Amino acid sequence: MHLPKKICLSCRHFSLQAPASGVCKLVKGMTNYPVKSIEESCESWKDCGQHYFIRTGWIKRQLASATGETTRTETGIIQ
Ligand code: SF4
Repeated sequence: MHLPKKICLSCRHFSLQAPASGVCKLVKGMTNYPVKSIEESCESWKDCGQHYFIRTGWIKRQLASATGETTRTETGIIQ
């Protein structure tokens, strides 16, 4: 099985907000969480499991809709 790289995109503490970035919620309760690119990493990385594949699917759909492409997913067609 292919394991995701130890980057923010595959980290349990990451909250994806745009196709290339999100915020790190390692420290809870902050007003503004630090913005991270999906490729960043640190020693507090923790595997987010299946969320990695949900996130990569969301990114693909966002990029496809930004270019006006139609994307087919398991649940239907997104335009
Ligand atoms: S900065 Fe570290 S803890 Fe925060 S999301 Fe990225 S890898 Fe995870």
